[in-house]
Amino acid sequence: MPKRIIYWFRNDLRLHDNEGFLKATQDADEVLPVYIFDTRQFRDLSLGFPKTGLFRTQFLLEAVQNLRDNLRKKGGNLLIFKGKPESIIANLAREWQAEAVFTSKEATQEETEVESAVSKNLKIHNVDIELFWTATLYHPRDLPFWVSRLPDVFTEFRKSVERQSKIRATYPEPATVTVPAGLTFEKLPEIYELILFSQPPISDPRRALSFKGGETEALRRLDDYFWQKDQLRYYKETRNELLGADYSSKFSAWLALGCISPRRIYEEVKRYEANRISNDSTYWLVFELIWRDYFRFVGLKYGTRLFKVTGIKNDFKTRWNHRQDLFQQWVNGQTGVPFIDANMRELQLTGFMSNRGRQNVASFLTKDLGVDWTWGAAYFESQLIDYDVCSNWGNWNYVAGVGNDPRENRYFNIHTQATRYDQQALYMKHWLPELADLPTDKIHAKNHIQK
Ligand SMILES: Cc1cc2nc3c(=O)[nH]c(=O)nc-3n(C[C@H](O)[C@H](O)[C@H](O)COP(=O)(O)OP(=O)(O)OC[C@H]3O[C@@H](n4cnc5c(N)ncnc54)[C@H](O)[C@@H]3O)c2cc1C
Repeated sequence: MPKRIIYWFRNDLRLHDNEGFLKATQDADEVLPVYIFDTRQFRDLSLGFPKTGLFRTQFLLEAVQNLRDNLRKKGGNLLIFKGKPESIIANLAREWQAEAVFTSKEATQEETEVESAVSKNLKIHNVDIELFWTATLYHPRDLPFWVSRLPDVFTEFRKSVERQSKIRATYPEPATVTVPAGLTFEKLPEIYELILFSQPPISDPRRALSFKGGETEALRRLDDYFWQKDQLRYYKETRNELLGADYSSKFSAWLALGCISPRRIYEEVKRYEANRISNDSTYWLVFELIWRDYFRFVGLKYGTRLFKVTGIKNDFKTRWNHRQDLFQQWVNGQTGVPFIDANMRELQLTGFMSNRGRQNVASFLTKDLGVDWTWGAAYFESQLIDYDVCSNWGNWNYVAGVGNDPRENRYFNIHTQATRYDQQALYMKHWLPELADLPTDKIHAKNHIQK
């Protein structure tokens, strides 16, 4: 009997730098690569939108298809299911007499509960589960402190890891993938099978970038942004802009699904520094990836507090309102404040928004409208093509003032922000064509918040 291992792909949809998958191909005679669309992730929320919205679902479907294509090139394939991983994996293990299940490890409640349920169901069949950490630049085991002692201030965290931790080298792709004969490979589900009555989304042609899911596109974007367009050398100066494909890397959506590993990006930055230029911008991209790591470890440290309205700070003092009318105006980009509306329309019509935009709209919802910040976070979860559980909920905690922002009562003055980052009102006019004929100063005047 050949030794068989199931590899359960989750948010690690890639072949490069995938320790667990590589090890599965090395330890076993035959591997069963599996992806499961967990139907609970596509349910409707009481706020009136699905937990996973159309743009993100489309991107995920593309990423899974691309993984299958890349596995086929190595002689393998991908089993695709729709349902609950805890039942499907246990059945598969029994049916194919697998010795073990390997998979990537997640940080937050819903994901770790599924891990535990899978593990429990495997135990009765005497099948082991092995978890691999694949998501961050720094491996948690290489941190200079226990995660329970993670500093609550980002700068302290960053300085400690930069001084004391090493970033591990990437793992190579497996040369070949051998799957058992006789497996049935179902086709990818259609979008309407995941979100009822839905068609693939139509992205607005005014979008910043035409995002396509998958490892192949992720590596292409890396090459394009660094080497072809040579944008990395300007990143620190352009990263707060709002219009166009190249003011920032746009790596986030691929990072969120693990189509690209942060260590792969790091190695490419080092190569760029050796061959082109090493400057503040090349450092700053890594700096931002350390922010991403930080929120992942914050998620590990604080568990379910990340998702509670009281936040990781356990703030029981702040009172939030639950006004549906205000929330809907915000969602639909109809607040009457052009800088907010332009950003919210971009999100609604494309699934993407710049970091500057996210900070402003989150601050506006929480500090100006006083609406429960978890509603905003839930909407971002549904709508953002790059939704990442820790980056999203961690940033929302931070902006809402219930997280680990060392500055008390940080407030974004929308008028000042719009004047600084959209001086000519080009971004606002781009998304709000109804303002096209209005003089710039009149548009800016509308960004004064009436209290
Ligand atoms: C309220 C709010 C919600 C957010 N939700 C998400 C989310 O769900 N998923 C997500 O990936 N990012 C989120 N961010 C962080 C940030 O806005 C995006 O990562 C960034 O805009 C993505 O564009 P980019 O890849 O071009 O970024 P770049 O500027 O090119 O940065 C490179 C990479 O660094 C990481 N990064 C940059 N800024 C941050 C940050 N503040 N926090 C964590 N990682 C960062 C991302 O992985 C990004 O791809 C959120 C920020 C805010 C304020």
